[in-house]
Formats: sequence, C-alpha cells, structure tokens
Amino acid sequence: MEPKLKIENLHVVYDTKEGEVRAVDGLSLELNEKEVIGIAGETGSGKTTLALSILRILPTNGRIVGGKIYFDGEDLLSLPEEELLKIRQAKISLIIQQSGKALHPMFESGWQVAEAIYWHEDATPEELSRRVSKIFDNVWLGKENVFKFPEEMSMGMRQRALIALAISTNPELIIADEPFKGLDVIIQRQIIEILKGIKLKYKPTMLLMSHNINALGEIAHKLAIMYAGQIFEVAEKDEIFQNPKHPYTKGLIGAIPSLKRLKRRLISMPGNLPSMINPPKGCRFWPRCPYAKEICKREAPKAIKIGNSLVRCHFAEEVADISPWDFWG
Ligand code: SF4
Repeated sequence: MEPKLKIENLHVVYDTKEGEVRAVDGLSLELNEKEVIGIAGETGSGKTTLALSILRILPTNGRIVGGKIYFDGEDLLSLPEEELLKIRQAKISLIIQQSGKALHPMFESGWQVAEAIYWHEDATPEELSRRVSKIFDNVWLGKENVFKFPEEMSMGMRQRALIALAISTNPELIIADEPFKGLDVIIQRQIIEILKGIKLKYKPTMLLMSHNINALGEIAHKLAIMYAGQIFEVAEKDEIFQNPKHPYTKGLIGAIPSLKRLKRRLISMPGNLPSMINPPKGCRFWPRCPYAKEICKREAPKAIKIGNSLVRCHFAEEVADISPWDFWG
C-alpha cells in the first residue's frame, strides 16, 4: 500500500545574517493511512520547519532546497499554488504553536471554525451552526464557547479552539506542532485525551511533533526521533520506550523519570544541539556520542533496518541491545 505521506531526503534552509541555517537536512519519513506518528525532538531540532514545509508555508527567508513530499502519491513540492490551496485545511490541516496568536482576535472562535468549513464546502447557516457545535463538543469546549472571542478564552481553551479549527473540514492528515507546549499538566492531559478522541472518532493520519516524548507515546502508534534536522530512529512506540536502539534515543529514554525504575539514575547527555549553520560533518551526533569512531566524523550514516526499527547510526547493530544505562555508563 502506498504511504499517505512520504517525505524523501528533504532539505530546508533559512537565510540569516549569520549564514545559511540547515534546519532540515536530509530527512525521510513515511506515514501510512490512519497512522499516528509522533516526532520527538528538542526545541531547534527542525520539527516546526518540517511542519511548515509540508504545507509550503515557510517564512520568507526559508527555502526548500531538495527532496520530495508525496501526499497520496502526488509531490506537494511541485504542485502549483492554486492546487495547494485546495489541499491546505481541506485535506491537510495544521495545529500551530502559540495558540495565543493563531486565532484572529476580532472574530468569535466558533465563527472562525465555521468560516474554515464554508471556505471548502457549500453548507447552509443551519448546517454550519450544527457542525460547529458538534466540533466544539468533540474538543471539550462545549456549545457555550462558540461565541467567545479568543481573548475571552484561557490558553487551554484557545488550544482546544485551534484543534477544533484543524478538524473542522475532516482532513485526511492533521499535523500538530507542539500541541502541549506552555500548558500546565492538567490542560496537557486534556489535550492528550482530546487528540486520542480525534484519533478514534475521525481516524485521520496524524503527525504530532513535540519535545514531550511521554505525551506523544500516549497517542501515537509510532515514534520518530528527530535531531539536528534528521530522523535518527523510527519504531513502534513500545519498541522506542522498551528497546531504544540509537545512542541518542537511549539517552532520551534514560532521562525520563519512571516509578518502575526508581533505582536507576537519570541519564544526562553531555552537550547541546549543534549549530545548524556549520553542523558537524558525518553523523550530526558524534560530538556528544560516547561510541563515536573515526568513520562517524567522516561519513553520514544511512538508516538501516533492525527488526521493525529504522536506525541511522553506523554501529546500530552493535549498540542496539545495550541498555540506555549501560550505554551511557
Ligand atoms: Fe554515535 Fe557514530 Fe552512531 Fe553517530 S554514527 S550515533 S556518532 S556511533
């Protein structure tokens, strides 16, 4: 079966005063229909750039300089803008970061959802009203908030209104960029449950991006680990949590506090994400990796398959079964 979304060797750069930032740097990923993949990565790893690239809505200093993005077999990067207009929101919707700024302050939240539907479908005012009420119920906002302006809503309510907007046209692919960011734990829990409800009720293909791997793991079927503009590992979520194979994934999993392993110390990986103006040659992770060898500094590793996992590391087979704590010593 053809993947719903297939990203092949994507390269995206930003022109800045300091130089060219290689925000996405040879990224490949596939999503099957109705599959939910969570992309976990630190802030600055390129998640937002990836989301904006799929819809071709990068800021003016951003450029896609290589690769393909196929949606239902059609390359989105070579579609004329007027064709893409028919796909945005109707077939692919985006829940963007910063819920405070994403809604128009001058219009009621329900009106903005109704407008999104009306833009893509012929619907009577009665039908619009009925659909908006139902959507608001599905995102736990309730009909009583349909006529509220964004500034009359809390941050959590605005985040739910953004999710309402994203599902309003029943899109085939929903992309959510940091949907839990800046929310307290109670609201985060609500957003997790709402997204789980959408997965069950609407059955869309979903690409969720967050630095919060635990939250992603509650919703997604698979997890992809992103670092410095590349995907380092893709696997079923249980495999990532129980048997992480890439050195970086091992560090991430070992850093998660868990009641099940109270006697284990938490792993703290040394160093930070590299500068993407002048990233390290070879494997992007070698300056932080305790297993790095000469080849890692020279040659970029290719993704290899180990079981059902895809791992981008020269020594993936050697290190795959080492526990995070033994690996990071
Ligand atoms: Fe570490 Fe080398 Fe694997 Fe990169 S390729 S993660 S540096 S062992």
